Amino acid sequence: MTVRVPTSGSPSGTEGARPDDARRHNRSAVLRRLHRAGPCTRAVLAAELGLNRSTIKAVVDGLAESGLVSERLPSKRSGAGRPSLLVLPNPQAAVVLAVDIRVDRVSMAVVGLGGEILGRLSWRLKVGVEKPRDVLTRVLESAPMLASELGSLVVGAGVSVPGVVRRPDGLVREAPHLHWVDVPLGEQLAAGLRVPVAVANDAELGALAEHTRGIARDANDLLFVECDFGVGGGVISGGSALRGAGGYLGELGHMVVRPEGLECHCGLRGCWETEVGGPALCRALGLPADTARGELLASLRELDADPVEALGRLGEFAGWLSLGLINVVNLLAPELVVLGDPLGALPGPVLDTVVQRVAERSMVSRAIGHTGVVRSSLGRDAQLVGAAELAFDPVLDVAAGQNP
Ligand SMILES: [Zn+2]
Repeated sequence: MTVRVPTSGSPSGTEGARPDDARRHNRSAVLRRLHRAGPCTRAVLAAELGLNRSTIKAVVDGLAESGLVSERLPSKRSGAGRPSLLVLPNPQAAVVLAVDIRVDRVSMAVVGLGGEILGRLSWRLKVGVEKPRDVLTRVLESAPMLASELGSLVVGAGVSVPGVVRRPDGLVREAPHLHWVDVPLGEQLAAGLRVPVAVANDAELGALAEHTRGIARDANDLLFVECDFGVGGGVISGGSALRGAGGYLGELGHMVVRPEGLECHCGLRGCWETEVGGPALCRALGLPADTARGELLASLRELDADPVEALGRLGEFAGWLSLGLINVVNLLAPELVVLGDPLGALPGPVLDTVVQRVAERSMVSRAIGHTGVVRSSLGRDAQLVGAAELAFDPVLDVAAGQNP
């Protein structure tokens, strides 16, 4: 079965009677559980979802008949007796396109049901001079090639952009380091790809990715911070994304931490981004602001083995990073702060300093007991994974609602 998602309006019914709400709800719950957390037995599904075994049997049988899941014996046997079958999502049953547009690179992937990356490609961008039209054209040319190699029909797309995005229609209001203003990226991609397209801020998708598939799976309140070029933040509060008016929440990089500091492109002076953004990290390491990613990461790795040198070079950087995090932790009360690329590659002693300062100086962290500050477990792929999850969200509901 191939899942078809309408490009607008509500999901249309398939032939025959429309499934009732309870059945659709249960199918969606099972499909989401398998997609996010991977294969498990019917008994585990029943326990986790609070459904009785006969309901789970009916739902799994229906999903299997639709081609969305299959069942097989586990590869490893545990204990005596007959092993229980594992229910697993069928990656080819629903495939989405994930696009991660960065300041210096575009990465694309086709991702199957269950979250497996089935194929990927990327290309470099010339920093600050790439026109939206050229990026769009190459994405549209690459998508069918990527999907056709896998023999899959893409049913939705998610796009990560390093900027301020109007969520309802995917208009990129401002992507300062790309120099893009008011680019109707969502509409143009949807017209070209002929599938629903959702566009979101890169840090928001980093938070979504870490929450669904990364280190913050068990955290209901988390903050994701990254400093690819600019600094962005994504927030999950009470298990849901915090978006603010128009979906514009998250411009943490423009919180002023040093009023007498450097001028920022946003018009203010001393924004957090001027002290902990990508160029500031390069500056602290004695590297040119446009240092290639690989060289920057290699430089950070070298310092890992030399704690004295690491703190000597990055001590002040750690101070600014801590100061901003203390402010944001006091404001949002996350239980976990996840440091995305390349902050997640900071040397151990530098990260330890940040963890300690946030613990000691944030009132909220003291009240909670401890706010964890950890490295992203998805690293450079966080935005790509988040973009795929963004695309999967409506697909899972539609798939669950379709017959049989
Ligand atoms: Zn600013």
